[in-house]
Amino acid sequence: MTNQKSASLPKVQTAIDAVIKAMRLCEQVQAEMVPTDAIQKTDRSPVTVADFGSQALICKAIGDAFPDDAIVAEESAQALKENASLLERVTGYVNRFCQDAPSSAETVCEWIDQGRGEVGQNFWTLDPIDGTKGFLRRDQYAIALAHIVNGTVQLGVLGCPNLPYRLNNEGVERGCLFVAIRGEGTRLYTKAGDFIEQVHVSETVHRFAESVESTHGDSDAHSRIANALGITESPVRMDSQAKYGIVSRGEASLYIRLPNPNYPDYRECIWDHAAGLIVVEEAGGTVTDANGIPLNFLTGKRMLENRGIVATNGKLHQHVLMAVSGQQSAVG
Ligand code: AMP
Ligand code: MG
Repeated sequence: MTNQKSASLPKVQTAIDAVIKAMRLCEQVQAEMVPTDAIQKTDRSPVTVADFGSQALICKAIGDAFPDDAIVAEESAQALKENASLLERVTGYVNRFCQDAPSSAETVCEWIDQGRGEVGQNFWTLDPIDGTKGFLRRDQYAIALAHIVNGTVQLGVLGCPNLPYRLNNEGVERGCLFVAIRGEGTRLYTKAGDFIEQVHVSETVHRFAESVESTHGDSDAHSRIANALGITESPVRMDSQAKYGIVSRGEASLYIRLPNPNYPDYRECIWDHAAGLIVVEEAGGTVTDANGIPLNFLTGKRMLENRGIVATNGKLHQHVLMAVSGQQSAVG
């Protein structure tokens, strides 16, 4: 049972059900994808029918159950309103996965825009598809939902439709759901929502995880840090917060994301880290920025006070921070 400081059961169940539904929508879109289902945003990053559909389903579910809670999500319906055929595709998928009576395109846009709430004392943050590039490559991606109260992540649900139950284990089922509740640990479920196991970070130091995208970190510095720690295994390169998932399961001892020197002004988005942070912390690990500063989710959509990310099994954390500071005099 939940204790007083943890997330309430209705919140947990609503979040799990919504993420499972969104995972199904994403998989269906991926199976039937046509080239026009993906467009470029103004920052030139990709967004797809599945990103919009996932955000619509999750915002509707949370909005119905907890109308007073703000939601801060990555997408807005603006681009859809200017693209009738894309909006029609999104509306079709949302209606396939929403149990209610069919909804109009306008209603679907309203659900998506429920995600344009403000950061505050009680809010959710959502990345409807984290790692859209991974989704397009049919590689790893995640649906990441977190509930934050007074600046502390209380609940994280991370749906990873393509992640096997165990890495490097041919033939095992794919599709995992990580659920972390503050004070209650991190549990792994199948993508259908069946409990698999409680997960724990690794006891030993073995490999590290980093992004597939070289511009999202500083892979040369990551390798030097790994060397300094005596890590000889090659890194696991993976898109999305699935990286936090594999640290929580002990399949990597740490996840390093140092700022890319070509993007000195980049600040991380809250929806890219909130769910992952609690998944690792509740599995026994530690998450800070690259300078050892706790992540601050209250500065807006971007974490203005943080630079880079270090997520470890806990034991290793101070060693990694020392290795980072040996690489560069304070990051940022
Ligand atoms: P990953 O799959 O771990 O590389 O994370 C994907 C996320 O990286 C996207 O959702 C973007 O928000 C974020 N991103 C985009 N540009 C950068 C950058 N220059 N540095 C760090 N993260 C970035
Ligand atoms: Mg993202």
